[in-house]
Amino acid sequence: MNKLIDNFGREISYLRVSITDRCNYRCIYCQSEKKFEFIPHQEILRFEEIVEIVQEAVNLGITNVRITGGEPLVRKGVVDFIKKLREIKKLEDISLTTNGFFLSEYAEKLKDAGLNRVNISLDSLQEEKYKKITRGGNLEKVLKGIDFALKENLLPIKINTVLIKGINDNEVDDFVKLTLKRPLNIRFIEFMPSGEEVINEFENKFISVQEIKEKLIKKYLLKPIKISTANGPAKYFQIKGGEGTIGFITALSQHFCKTCNRIRLTSEGKLRPCLFSNKEVDIKQAIRNAKTDDKIIRSKIIRNDIGEAISIKPEGHKLNKKFSNREFFKMSKIGG
Ligand code: SAM
Repeated sequence: MNKLIDNFGREISYLRVSITDRCNYRCIYCQSEKKFEFIPHQEILRFEEIVEIVQEAVNLGITNVRITGGEPLVRKGVVDFIKKLREIKKLEDISLTTNGFFLSEYAEKLKDAGLNRVNISLDSLQEEKYKKITRGGNLEKVLKGIDFALKENLLPIKINTVLIKGINDNEVDDFVKLTLKRPLNIRFIEFMPSGEEVINEFENKFISVQEIKEKLIKKYLLKPIKISTANGPAKYFQIKGGEGTIGFITALSQHFCKTCNRIRLTSEGKLRPCLFSNKEVDIKQAIRNAKTDDKIIRSKIIRNDIGEAISIKPEGHKLNKKFSNREFFKMSKIGG
């Protein structure tokens, strides 16, 4: 079996694919309040193009694909797209990151299409606060979406909670308690500086996940635990007798670049080897410029570009909580 190894000996097996920059939410840490300029439709990769790229990536050694956005469930045709991905032999795991708003309608269809599991973003368990953070989201609908995901066994279900100082750090205990009775994996994530407006607010809203972990250790007996699909950046723990787990993602305070196994494909067709680096390879332009249906030629172009993206993957990022670099990134465009 082929393996993709980068210049620092890391095996790259995970491709994160953003299928849209559009979202029905405008979370305060992700998007600006101002009117947002979306990428024109013709500049967004078509589903057939994505499937073609994923097929080649899998031939080269990618085994896991995560679909994200924007909000992936707002893009028409997402279920058929997943069916097509499922036909790719040797693609072991297909997962999806969603805000959960449409999950009650989609969970069964996604499962039938071949999706393995979902990550759901949830930053507050209080209705009014949830609405504020997401700028208009509907907590009740998302909680219902989680029930549907559980019913369809889209497991393990990971709940992504971005910690924002002074806003939701007082809800940590409520999130932790969710793991006692339900098989949910709550992951506390450090707030990252994405988007210009967000950066201005960033320093006084950042709270290190390590700090939260230390508080929890004093309160609960946390047992380190491995979960089946945990080849990512989170470290997981369980409270004795609990059904679910608690994970900590320290994107900024402790880099996990040494074990980074991923590359990203943005919605506008750029391969991005590191979320925090602006280095990209324009794979969409390369395949569109080829102006040919010849499978061998297209395959060669795609493989070359994937190889190039792997070759420019940096050893690590230099971001930290004293973020001063104004070269911000836009999560909704790249795909978080
Ligand atoms: N719409 C989907 C969702 O809400 O999960 C997928 C896209 S969203 C950009 C993916 C993930 O990125 C979410 O879990 C979100 O919390 C996270 N995210 C976005 N901006 C972030 C930031 N500034 N810091 C940390 N996480 C962020």
